[in-house]
Amino acid sequence: MTDALERIAQLWPASGEVVVLTGAGISVASGIPDFRSPGGLWSRYDPMQVATTDALENNPAEVWRFLMDAVRVMSSAAPNPAHKALARLEQAGLVQAIVTQNIDGLHQRAGSKNVVEFHGSMASYRCNACSAPHDAEAAKAITAATAPWRCACGGVVRPDIVFFGEPIPLDALNKSGQLACGAGLTLIVGTACEVAPASSLPLLTKQYGGKVAEINLIPGRLAHMCDASLTAKAEDALPALADMLLERRN
Ligand SMILES: [Zn+2]
Repeated sequence: MTDALERIAQLWPASGEVVVLTGAGISVASGIPDFRSPGGLWSRYDPMQVATTDALENNPAEVWRFLMDAVRVMSSAAPNPAHKALARLEQAGLVQAIVTQNIDGLHQRAGSKNVVEFHGSMASYRCNACSAPHDAEAAKAITAATAPWRCACGGVVRPDIVFFGEPIPLDALNKSGQLACGAGLTLIVGTACEVAPASSLPLLTKQYGGKVAEINLIPGRLAHMCDASLTAKAEDALPALADMLLERRN
C-alpha cells in the first residue's frame, strides 16, 4: 500500500486544489452497505417502486416503507476514519472540496465544510407539493402506522434527495464542474464512476491538465486513465494518506 500511497501523495498539488469524488464505498465501514450490494437497500426494494417521482405521487405508502428503512440505516451510522481523514485534509488546506454521490451526510458530520451533494441529502425534508421545509428529526418518529408523512397541505413529505426521474441539482452540477476543471488533482474514492455526472468529473480534470488518482477496493471504470491507483479500503488508505501528506508539509 505504501508505494501506491506515495505515488498519490506525489501528485498532490501544493496549492491544495484537490477535489475528492466519493461514493458508496467510503460509507460501508460506517454501517451503510452500498445500495446496490447484497444487504443494500436495493436488495430489499425495487428502486423503480420506491424512489421515483411517479412512486411519490402514486404510492407514497411504499415510498415511506423504504424511507423508514433508509432513515434507520442512516441514523445509526457514524463517520469512519476515511471521512475524518478528508476533514483533516480540508482543514489543513490540502483538500478544496468533496463531491459526493452519497446522501448520508457523513462528510459534514466528520467536519468537512465544502461538500457538494450530487444526489441531495437525507438531512433535510420538504413537502413534495408545496415545498415547505420539514424537520428531519421528525422523520425518525414516522412509523408504519403514521406513514406516509404528510404536510399540512396534504402533500407527501420527502427528503431532499434526488429521486429517479429528477435532475441533479443545477448548482451541484455547476459547482462540481467548476471544481473539476480547476483541480490539480481529482481523487476518486469508493466509487466505480459508472454513472454520469460523477464519471465525467475526472475527465474534466484531465482535459484541463490536472491529474486523477483512485482509491477503490475494486478498480473502477476510469482505472485506465488514473495517474495513480490504490486498491484498498478507504478507511485504511485515507488516514495513512493524510498522515503522509501532513507530515510532508511540516
Ligand atoms: Zn405541503
